[in-house]
Amino acid sequence: MSDSNPAPSLYAAREPIYPRRVSGPFRNLKWYIMVVTLGIYYLTPWIRWDRGPSLPDQAVLLDLAGRRFYFFWIEIWPHEFYFVAGLLIMAGLGLFLFTSALGRVWCGYTCPQTVWTDLFILVERWIEGDRNARLRLHRQKKMDFRKARLRLTKWVSWFLIGLATGGAWVFYFADAPTLAYDLVTLNAHPVAYTTMLVLTGTTFLFGGFAREQICIYACPWPRIQAAMMDEDTLTVGYREWRGEPRGKPRKTDEPGTVHGDCIDCMACVNVCPMGID
Ligand code: SF4
Repeated sequence: MSDSNPAPSLYAAREPIYPRRVSGPFRNLKWYIMVVTLGIYYLTPWIRWDRGPSLPDQAVLLDLAGRRFYFFWIEIWPHEFYFVAGLLIMAGLGLFLFTSALGRVWCGYTCPQTVWTDLFILVERWIEGDRNARLRLHRQKKMDFRKARLRLTKWVSWFLIGLATGGAWVFYFADAPTLAYDLVTLNAHPVAYTTMLVLTGTTFLFGGFAREQICIYACPWPRIQAAMMDEDTLTVGYREWRGEPRGKPRKTDEPGTVHGDCIDCMACVNVCPMGID
């Protein structure tokens, strides 16, 4: 190839996706699931459970130093870990069952990557507006005061969510009120700060920037789940035989022109958080 006609790059930069707001029963179900799952994650370490003197009163506690796992009225010792393994196997089988019957419900509703990304998009929409406003802001090259203010507000909000997420995680491993006090007074163990820092950073990056890239490049589940689906599985997808030839019927169409059901309105593209096109 001559110098005047350089080889095209094999790398295409990611185009950020700005899904449009949607409403309806399935979206409402997704909001409920988000509230419940995030509520469980953030609040569980603060639930108290009286086990009597000399035992921790935290309902769910992974006591690594004492080699105990406390779960409400259950106490699991290391040699009883097969209970947890059995539970995980049952959860895995349940996931396979739901996937073969209902398709990508795990990915769509309950995967942590989905739930946190959804939360980050919600915050982004509150601050920067719906799809068109966000697209305009993204395409605006000049970093004026308004763009800087919106971007900074969004990133600080995302950071605080990441911090709360990392913070909640370490509370599962120690008495939450004591650890919270130690963290604030800078007396906590360095491992607690390091763990919080790593989880804050990964939440910020995965929910704010990587989003669907985690599903496409990092997650093994999409490679596996297709093996559990057949023609009876409920899947959301474009059926070419039904949609094509796409386009709205027009007065100028030749008599007898056939149209598929797809009117090419781009609504499905504009709302898709995975960026179908
Ligand atoms: S592809 Fe993986 S990371 Fe993405 S939603 Fe599904 S399980 Fe979660």
